[in-house]
Amino acid sequence: MGDAFTAAPGFRSWGGAARPLQHVARPRFADQLPGLLRQAPAGGALAVGLARSYGDSGLNSAGGLIDMSGLDRLIVFDAENGVVRAEAGLSLEALLKLLAPRSMFTTTTPGTAQVTLGGAVANDVHGKNHHSAGAFGCGVRRLGLLRTTGEQMELAPGDPLFAATIGGLGLTGVITWVELQLAQITGPYIDNEDVPFGDLGGFFDLAAESAGAWEHTAAWIDVGRGRGIFSRGAWTSQGEGPQRKGRLSAPIEPPVSPLNPLSLRVFNEVVFAAKSMGVRRRTVPYSAALHPLDSVAGWNRLYGRKGFWQHQSVVPAPSARDAVAEMLGAVAKAGEGSFLSVLKTFGERASPGLLSFPRGGATLAMDFPARGPGVLKLMDRLDAIVREAGGRIYAAKDGRMSADMMRAGYPRLDEFLQHLDPGLSSDFARRTLGVSA
Ligand SMILES: Cc1cc2nc3c(=O)[nH]c(=O)nc-3n(C[C@H](O)[C@H](O)[C@H](O)COP(=O)(O)OP(=O)(O)OC[C@H]3O[C@@H](n4cnc5c(N)ncnc54)[C@H](O)[C@@H]3O)c2cc1C
Repeated sequence: MGDAFTAAPGFRSWGGAARPLQHVARPRFADQLPGLLRQAPAGGALAVGLARSYGDSGLNSAGGLIDMSGLDRLIVFDAENGVVRAEAGLSLEALLKLLAPRSMFTTTTPGTAQVTLGGAVANDVHGKNHHSAGAFGCGVRRLGLLRTTGEQMELAPGDPLFAATIGGLGLTGVITWVELQLAQITGPYIDNEDVPFGDLGGFFDLAAESAGAWEHTAAWIDVGRGRGIFSRGAWTSQGEGPQRKGRLSAPIEPPVSPLNPLSLRVFNEVVFAAKSMGVRRRTVPYSAALHPLDSVAGWNRLYGRKGFWQHQSVVPAPSARDAVAEMLGAVAKAGEGSFLSVLKTFGERASPGLLSFPRGGATLAMDFPARGPGVLKLMDRLDAIVREAGGRIYAAKDGRMSADMMRAGYPRLDEFLQHLDPGLSSDFARRTLGVSA
């Protein structure tokens, strides 16, 4: 193993349900990358960002990781034409701080701003505005890709390797820089409305009614009861307050998670009682509406040392209502609870990547404490429902789906495999794609 890749015992994915030892190199300059790729261990290299993926798509136990977060320089900012080019390790948080006061924003953002541009591209992430803006890759104009042969490439839409790299899980090369077309926004605040709903029918009615008029929509759902709170928001310049009020921090990781089915039920009751008094309207800084979890640093540690799994699926529109109802029923039957469960409808705009997760339909994300084989069995059952409905599982959240499930969900997988860089790999790739460097 090259000296540049050193053992990093604390390195983990966001869910932390499995924590194999990783060896990590931390470059500060882009010209170090070719040398690092040459020195990579036998199991190959994998570029990673801020490790906000939940399972094993950002782990490479048999090889080495290249932490790209030190490569975070802005290269070009053309405010007149709304175009920005930056190194792939720049975080969305830093970029949005620059853009939002100038009434510009990335075309979309995931539910956390603590992701890098490279990570956002490699998972073709989606946000609350998917129904109006599509996936992150729709805003990518060009990107730089370094193959492990040392070849540096500039890719643009229309190039087959571009389509493989958007949502390509870091397996086609190291993304060195990303150029984005930006969106104009009215101002850095969001007019937000929280509307309670009593059942899934209520959710789908609100989603249909809101899609045209509201740019941002998503619902928190009480998995056990099918009720929830539908949030919808629109940009505004009229607001006040800092983007983030003092960051809270989760305590040290407890040996046993305080989050169990009983505490989760109580949590859901309390949140629902507080929020269901009727429609609530507020104007909030964009970070409060779009990145609410970022205000509690390290909240993932509350799941304890065993960590947690997230199951995020998307099911196509015709079967969405039935499939979501069946999944909620399966969770209730298994006696499991989910602390944070989000339901959202995706729009029909095609995602640009061969392995992009977003597609038209409904996406349901549920977090389960990793308490043993019962939870794994439940998630297999959820996979079966998703498969039957013609849907797929999100690789960024996954650490356990079968290779069969991956193949069933991603019909362009074989096309993607032709673009793999043979010097790269990940635990996810070895497990679901049979790929090793
Ligand atoms: C609280 C929270 C909320 C979230 N909400 C959403 C959401 O709403 N929508 C959504 O889509 N996702 C969401 N996510 C998931 C997150 O957006 C993705 O996992 C994202 O890809 C993480 O980016 P990262 O920089 O941390 O990359 P990592 O997690 O470190 O890596 C992710 C993938 O990108 C690859 N990669 C990273 N950098 C490069 C590079 N320079 N070149 C090549 N490959 C690279 C890695 O190999 C890996 O396959 C959420 C995560 C959290 C923790």
